[in-house]
Amino acid sequence: MRKPIIAGNWKMHKTVREAIELVNGLKRNFFDEMEIDIVVCPPYTALSEVGEIIQDSQIRLGAQDMHWEERGAFTGEISPLMLKDLGVEYVIIGHSERRQFFGETNETVNKKVKSALKHKLIPIVCVGETLVERERGDTFSVVREHIENALVGVVIEKPRDLVVAYEPVWAIGTGVNATPEQAEEVQGYIRELLMNLFGEEIAEGIRIQYGGSVRPDNIEELINEKNIDGALVGGASLDLNSFTEIIRRVETAIRKH
Ligand code: PEP
Repeated sequence: MRKPIIAGNWKMHKTVREAIELVNGLKRNFFDEMEIDIVVCPPYTALSEVGEIIQDSQIRLGAQDMHWEERGAFTGEISPLMLKDLGVEYVIIGHSERRQFFGETNETVNKKVKSALKHKLIPIVCVGETLVERERGDTFSVVREHIENALVGVVIEKPRDLVVAYEPVWAIGTGVNATPEQAEEVQGYIRELLMNLFGEEIAEGIRIQYGGSVRPDNIEELINEKNIDGALVGGASLDLNSFTEIIRRVETAIRKH
């Protein structure tokens, strides 16, 4: 069985003081060894402080993006070396908000994924269709294009080196989540694409998260699907009680299996 992974994407939220308060709360709530990987992705400005607080806990540190180069004249960017320096272990790459507002393309996603792997950072690669694309019947072709272009030439040694997040754009921040059936249909397809790229053994072990309006009241039915191995959580990860409850419900669901 794949170990579930729940990641909180804090986006452009939380001052350092607020981030410290939230992560201290999480740390208090999760002191036991759990069968779940928990990742928090604060804004860059809070990575250092959050990283120090979770050092002796089971919560892992993630970043929301990175440049593919190690250093250089790239004003405003952050490099993989800088992230490693702060104890970052995961990095979200290709989030739809980066694609929509900041010119991220499949090509830049591919460069970032390769660079992340080279620096032993685990990329959380986001893919997913817009509402227009879904309504046109293009969901599978869009997801295929995202996966194949993002991962072209990528070599991974073991399944845990990579996480994929299926995030239908129409479900992000809208309060309308994909149904478990809709998410499973696409995530099963993503697993087939991963098999073509990496072979069955590796692809079977790669964790595929679902993201898009995940809340405590819908996580259980989602996580029960065969190819949903966790969640990338935006809005609900900003609130201590909601994020805690999501993790607890995943824990309960996997104990039942
Ligand atoms: C996200 O931004 O990755 C996300 C899934 O957001 P939300 O949970 O708020 O829909």
